[in-house]
Amino acid sequence: MKLIVTKKRAVIAVAVIALAVALVIVLAAVVPNVVSAVAPNGKTVVIDAGHGGADGGVVGATTGKKESDINLGVAKSLRHFLREAGYSVVMTREKDVDLATDGEDFKRSDMSARKKIIEDAAPDLMVSIHQNFYPLKSVHGAQVFYAATSEVSKGYAERMQEVLNATLDSDRAAKSGDYYVLTATSCPAMLVECGFLSNAKEERLLVTAEYQREVAYSIYTGINAVLFG
Ligand SMILES: [Zn+2]
Repeated sequence: MKLIVTKKRAVIAVAVIALAVALVIVLAAVVPNVVSAVAPNGKTVVIDAGHGGADGGVVGATTGKKESDINLGVAKSLRHFLREAGYSVVMTREKDVDLATDGEDFKRSDMSARKKIIEDAAPDLMVSIHQNFYPLKSVHGAQVFYAATSEVSKGYAERMQEVLNATLDSDRAAKSGDYYVLTATSCPAMLVECGFLSNAKEERLLVTAEYQREVAYSIYTGINAVLFG
């Protein structure tokens, strides 16, 4: 009888230890995620990586690299920095694809799909990422555009341009631009041309992941200045 009780106790002890071990394993798996989870900062940003898929955008004058790939590289880095800071981020595309569903009217179909993603997200800010090209090869630097119809967007774009001029090799002024992604959306919006693929020095930088990250960090700093500055 006593032996059975002892056996029972031993079984219970083993079960308790097994449970404790299981709990430690589960906690070890869960706790780091809880600790590293970033508190939401209450702001939503849509990042629109310009072009993609059948539409490569402009092409690097010496490297032949597509604008669409550079845009996506910058967009993904920017998403990383924003998420780390607690922003909610929506991307119009995450791969080398276009958003067109109507091959007959490709550009219109692609742009209206982007517009729908932006309008559905109703973000605090939409940033469309592009690369520039100009016949005069000496022209360089980051350039921010806004819709002339939005005073808020104009103020945001001017602040972003200040930050880009201060952090990149750039000395340009924000300009109004008649871009569909800016004029057709109702949220504050800007289009950032990160640099010129027609300028040899800037092209050499823009095709590298390191510089794409650097540009993304500058845009991230600009977004903080715009929404929290
Ligand atoms: Zn473009």
